[in-house]
Amino acid sequence: MAVYVDVIVDISANSLDRTFQYRVPEHMISDAAAGRQVKVPFGKGGRVISGFIISVSDKPALDPARIKDLAEIEKGAPAVESQLIMLADWIRRHYGSTMLQALKTVLPVRRPVRAIRRVTYVLADREGAEALYEKCSKNLREKARTRLLKALLLEEQLPRETVTGLLQISPSTLKAVLKTGVMTETSEQVYRNSASAALSGWHNVTLNADQQAAAEDIRKDMAALSENWEEAKAVHLLYGITGSGKTEVYMDLIAHVLSQGRQVIVLIPEISLTLQTVSRFYARFGSRIAIMNSRLSAGERYDQYMRAKNGEASIMIGPRSALFTPFENLGLIIIDEAHEGAYKSETTPRFHAVDTAIARARLAGAAVVLGSATPSVTSYYKAMSGQYSLNRLTVRAKSGSHLPEVSVVDMREEFSLKNRSILSRPLYEAMKETLARGEQIMLFLNRRGFAGFVSCRSCGHVIQCRHCDVAMKMHYGGRLKCHYCGYEEALPDRCPECGSPYIAGFGIGTQKVEQMVRQAFPEAGILRMDKDTTSGKDDFENILKSFSEHKADILIGTQMIVKGHDFENVTLVGILAADLSMFSGDYLSSERTFQLLTQAAGRAGRGDRPGRVIIQTYQPDHYSIAAAARQDYDGFYAQEICFRQMMHYPPASHMLMLLAESVKDQAADAAMQRIRAAADDLHMEGLQVLGPSRAGLTRGKDLYRYVVYFKHDQESELIRLREHLEALIGSEDMFSHIFFNFDMNPYVLQ
Ligand code: ADP
Ligand code: ZN
Ligand code: ZN
Repeated sequence: MAVYVDVIVDISANSLDRTFQYRVPEHMISDAAAGRQVKVPFGKGGRVISGFIISVSDKPALDPARIKDLAEIEKGAPAVESQLIMLADWIRRHYGSTMLQALKTVLPVRRPVRAIRRVTYVLADREGAEALYEKCSKNLREKARTRLLKALLLEEQLPRETVTGLLQISPSTLKAVLKTGVMTETSEQVYRNSASAALSGWHNVTLNADQQAAAEDIRKDMAALSENWEEAKAVHLLYGITGSGKTEVYMDLIAHVLSQGRQVIVLIPEISLTLQTVSRFYARFGSRIAIMNSRLSAGERYDQYMRAKNGEASIMIGPRSALFTPFENLGLIIIDEAHEGAYKSETTPRFHAVDTAIARARLAGAAVVLGSATPSVTSYYKAMSGQYSLNRLTVRAKSGSHLPEVSVVDMREEFSLKNRSILSRPLYEAMKETLARGEQIMLFLNRRGFAGFVSCRSCGHVIQCRHCDVAMKMHYGGRLKCHYCGYEEALPDRCPECGSPYIAGFGIGTQKVEQMVRQAFPEAGILRMDKDTTSGKDDFENILKSFSEHKADILIGTQMIVKGHDFENVTLVGILAADLSMFSGDYLSSERTFQLLTQAAGRAGRGDRPGRVIIQTYQPDHYSIAAAARQDYDGFYAQEICFRQMMHYPPASHMLMLLAESVKDQAADAAMQRIRAAADDLHMEGLQVLGPSRAGLTRGKDLYRYVVYFKHDQESELIRLREHLEALIGSEDMFSHIFFNFDMNPYVLQ
């Protein structure tokens, strides 16, 4: 059987959609794989040029007689482009996308952007220049020349901007003076370095015993990686409470990897990529750092990539996309706050940065460090089962800094005492005291994943699906619905637990909170941070900056405010509605709640004064809230993993979501039923199927959405199922969009 390969001969974004097919000669077949560098005869003359294999197949795309043979498959260490193409192939298979989409993800900015050239004019011959100056200064028609020579004699070097701008010298005058030989022109390529302003003094800290042990463990395991990646411990979970000094451990490891001549990628969620975070790295590693964020222009991004590619930078810090930095000899990938939802891509291919980082590390022979104060249940499960190695940091690193004291306020009690304010009495009192001491307060409104669950104000009961153990959602017309299995029931008019009539949807916004707080504390300075107040480019940084300079006493915000910002003077954190994320209608809701509460609590008492945290909730006994109040991750994990195992949710099992959007309601439903039937026909052992169920209307677009969930113990079985269904869906043309998603939330209607 003949084997063919598609080859790209130029990897720049605009040529990615053009590939050429070649036949693989018999003796090279075993070497043919995506990513391999090859030599191919090209064009009419059959000139031999190099390219990369992007896919392998047994079908010729045109008349086989017209397909040329590969000249050569290159052996030896693959170039970084090969590695990234192999990674694209992994992403394509794993998350479902075309090779083109995957390639555009890993090779995103390789379009030529003109780099800035810095041109300087230098005095070459002082005597000659003085003589020329004497001569010109007497001639009124040589004013420009005189100006230039005078400046040159004074400064000896003049940047082009000064010459053309300040001195107003025309190109013809410049040319004439250059010709005399008294002045020369030099130019050098400069890269726009977007964070060079962020330098501040680096204080060399001595790692404490916990930090030292973690760093040593990881270094030791790294040494074994080059022998056999699969057998060695390549992935490390660094589980350290907020403020325990994870960043110092990262920097220690980075220094170690750099000393071996290798490079490092540090992923930080976009929202935490602030000057404060980055300047710590800058202070230690200076210009060896390149920084990426979504606010950079295409030109700036290209410059950062080039600095990485040509060896000028050895550390890339950035969000998810920084994972594809073309380092030739990558030694380490660090993912800070690895539990963050932002590490999952929301556009096709929907890759997750943690798993993709591990795939890249495998190709590069590199190590991965996942840092978190609240590891995802999945990461912790992998650490417990030996797939990752685990290191813990259990105390705050700064002496005198302690974890805050946390208390829980039962809002049902407030309700029975007829307090209808958003502020409970204990929180109100604590705010008053804090303001009187001149200290600052953060109020956190937990709206993450909030989507209209229904609860009882008297007893806190939440209506859940009897099949899936997740909160039912309120839909139009007062129906309640489960977003996993589609089960529906009418909204009861009394609480099924206690009979109270105060049963309703739950909702409040930050604006409303701001209003109420202003009423309660008219003297206090208040800042609000949410989607509305941070739409401008620098709004986010500006709000944080004013708050850190104590230009306001109270900062009110959504989950944006809880991400890793250090405010020395914040001694009180109030969590207004801890429950809002707890019933978001998917299996991750308890995990999300625990993480948010723990992180919000971690914001209090970062300085030398003790901190206080007050959690307001209708569910004080729920394990995710009780465990967060005790700062007890293990207690939370023990309960949560039981629930996942019982319900076959990840990581105990794997889950694949298929979501289809269509303009035709009934036809789409029928097609989804056919897809379900096709899955059933496979008789895959251990496969569970939920749905199809209707996931609601896309707002603004009149598109109907349907979802089906598949659960299986083996991820590889779900990948097989996905490939089977993808082939089938190709023939269903009523869908506008269809996509697959692994181990993720249901598509909730917000
Ligand atoms: P994390 O990343 O775990 O939240 P950081 O690395 O930001 O923790 O450390 C928290 C604070 O403690 C920082 O101000 C840091 O400079 C300080 N710190 C970290 N390690 C040490 C140490 N070994 N000795 C003294 N201070 C430390
Ligand atoms: Zn009730
Ligand atoms: Zn259900």
